[in-house]
Amino acid sequence: MAKKLVIDPGHGGSDSGAVNGSYREKDFTLQIALKVRDYLAKNHEVSILMTRTTDTTVSLTQRTDYANANQADYFASIHINAGGGTGWESYIYNGTVSQFTIDAQNRIHSTVMGVIGPKYGVRDRGKKRANFHVLRESDMPAILMENLFIDTTQDLNLLRNATFIKDLADAIGLGIAKALSLPKKATGLYKVIAGSFQSLENAQDRESFLKKNRIGQSQVRQ
Ligand SMILES: [Zn+2]
Repeated sequence: MAKKLVIDPGHGGSDSGAVNGSYREKDFTLQIALKVRDYLAKNHEVSILMTRTTDTTVSLTQRTDYANANQADYFASIHINAGGGTGWESYIYNGTVSQFTIDAQNRIHSTVMGVIGPKYGVRDRGKKRANFHVLRESDMPAILMENLFIDTTQDLNLLRNATFIKDLADAIGLGIAKALSLPKKATGLYKVIAGSFQSLENAQDRESFLKKNRIGQSQVRQ
């Protein structure tokens, strides 16, 4: 069974989150979250649950109820900071947490900062702990990431940069994959070879299918 991950894009619908002119936290969190989902779905064996995939209102309780009802293995919440600072920070619950929760934060934090620090000069604001609803009320290990400041020009410029968003989302995805030890998705020829054959009959069917469709030859050329 693949591990179950909840990705939680902060705010949405009637709750814009932090706002700076026409820029809204809820739009950036959704953009990043969908790209984290796409990265993980493409590269890793994982079952992904989203608390929202569109601009809809979802309460904090609904978010954690959803994760708990689905008995998710990990909860990752994505937010944008405000208040005039700069940089990236991550949070886990400030009450009792498992060692796994701490290790996962370390893994994700260092993976993200390892990309956006050197490449974009984003400041590391550190690994923090707080009494946030989604961290406290989720039954599983959870992290909340504050991805730059919407009200700081230098940060907002990065959030408006599609390449930065992609790099950030990929790094979050990779960090989560490392933290949860998600298996890599098999691709190309490897996938064909690795297909498990329940019986010799299945294997022979597959072999003739491959021959008929010249898949063997096309794979070799890849
Ligand atoms: Zn927020």
